[in-house]
Amino acid sequence: MEEIRRKRVLMVPAPYEGHLPSMMNLASYLSFKGFSITIVRTQFNFKDISAKFPHLHFVTIDDGLSGSSLGLVDFLLKLNSVCEPLLKEFITLHNDVDFIIHDEFVYFPRQVAEDLNLPKMVFSASSAATSISRCVLMDLQEKGLLPPQDERSQHEEMVPEFHPFRYKDLPVTAYGSMERLMLLYGNVSKRGTSCGIIHNSSESIEKDFTSAAQVKWGVQIYSIGPLHMTDFATSCPSLFDEERNCLEWLDKQQPNSVMYISIGSLAMTKEEEFVEMAMGLVQSEQPFLWAIRPGSITGDESLDSLPEQFRETVTDGRGFVVKWAPQKEVLGHQAVGGFWNHCGWNSTLESISCGVPMICRPYSGDQRVNTRLMTHVWQTAIEVEGELDRGIVEMAVRRLIVGPEGEEMRKRAIILKEEVEVSIRIGGSSRSALNSLVDSIRSS
Ligand code: UDP
Repeated sequence: MEEIRRKRVLMVPAPYEGHLPSMMNLASYLSFKGFSITIVRTQFNFKDISAKFPHLHFVTIDDGLSGSSLGLVDFLLKLNSVCEPLLKEFITLHNDVDFIIHDEFVYFPRQVAEDLNLPKMVFSASSAATSISRCVLMDLQEKGLLPPQDERSQHEEMVPEFHPFRYKDLPVTAYGSMERLMLLYGNVSKRGTSCGIIHNSSESIEKDFTSAAQVKWGVQIYSIGPLHMTDFATSCPSLFDEERNCLEWLDKQQPNSVMYISIGSLAMTKEEEFVEMAMGLVQSEQPFLWAIRPGSITGDESLDSLPEQFRETVTDGRGFVVKWAPQKEVLGHQAVGGFWNHCGWNSTLESISCGVPMICRPYSGDQRVNTRLMTHVWQTAIEVEGELDRGIVEMAVRRLIVGPEGEEMRKRAIILKEEVEVSIRIGGSSRSALNSLVDSIRSS
C-alpha cells in the first residue's frame, strides 16, 4: 500500500533563550499530530538540542554570524537580510516544504514563502498586547507625538486609546537606535499576508488584546499558551548551564519566604545597582536566591567585589547565588514567595503559571508592556522604577514577602494561575486554539 506523505512544516525560531523553547514545544506537538517538522537554526547562539527532539529534523543556515558583536536590533536586521536568500535556496533544493512557521523577529521566511507560493504563519513568543504596542509606538513616532526620549521615562501620561499604558510603557529598546528599531518593528509587524498569528499567550489573561490584534491584522489569532504548561511541553536545553543545587537549598526554607531574583538572558545591570541590590537583600532580612548571569553586570561582577556583609549572608545560608537557575522549578517550589524580574514574557508566564507575585524592574522592549500588564491589569506585581538604592530594594522585598499587600497579590496570582490552567485543558481557550491551528495547517 502506498504510504501517505506527511505534510512538512518548516519552523524558524529566533536564536534566543526567550524564543526557542516555546517554538520547540509547538514543534513537538505538531510532530505528535502527524506533521514532519524541519527546524531551521542559525549559527548565531547555536547549541545542539537535537538529542532532546529525535523526532524532528534540524538544519543550520550558514549565516556566518556566530561571533557577531552587533547590538540586538542591528543584528536582527542583518540576520534577516543574510538568511533570506539562503533559506530560499534550501527550500528550492529540497522541494518538500508545505508550510512555514517563523518567529516574528526572524521574518526572512515571509518573502521566501511569498516567492515560492507557500502558506505561512507568524509565531510570537510574546503577548498580543506587545504586538499592538509596537504598532502604537510606530504610529506615535511617525506622527511626531512621542515625548522626547530624555523626558519619556518620567512621563506618567497615558497613551490615548491604549489603556492602561503610559508613554513610558511603550516598547522602546536599550539595544539600538530608535530609527533602526522602527525599521525592525515595521518588518516584524507586517503580518496581514500570513494565514494566522500564533501567540504563546492565553486569551484568559489578555482577551481584549487578542481581539484587538484580530481586528488589526484581519487574520486568525491563535493564543495557544503558555506552552511550557501544556502536557506535551518538553524542556529545551538552555544556552546556559543550570545550577540545580539551589533546589536543595530551597527545600530547607519556609513556604513563601524566599525572594528569587533573575533578569533573564539579555538584560544588563550596572555595577552600582548590583551593589545596591546585594545590600538591599541583606537589609530585607528575607532569604533570597539570586541568579547572576555571567556578563550581566557592566563592571566587576565577582561576589568578592560585593560588601563583606553580603558575602556573610551567603556564607550563613540566608542567601544562595547561582549563575543560572532551573527557573521553572524554582518558581514552582513552595519556598518561593516572590520573583524580582525584568519581566521578559517567558518569566512573566512562568510566574503566572506558579502563582508567584512579582517585583518588576523592566529594562527594555516588551518588558515595559508586560510590567504594566502585571501591575495594572492582573495586579499581581509591584514595579520598582528609577534609580535603585538598597532602601528601595529592602522595602520592595518586604512589601511583597511579608506585607499584607504581597499577601493580596499572592491570592490574585493564584486565581490567575487557575484561570490559565483551565485555558490549556481540553475545552479551554488555548487548547481549542491549538486544535484550530492544527486543522488550519492540515487544510492549507
Ligand atoms: N531562565 C532560567 N534561569 C535563569 C534565568 C532565566 O532558566 O537563571 C529562563 C527563564 O525561565 C525564561 C528565560 O530564561 O524561560 C528568559 O526568557 P524571558 O522571556 O523571561 O527573558 P529574556 O531572556 O528573553 O529577556
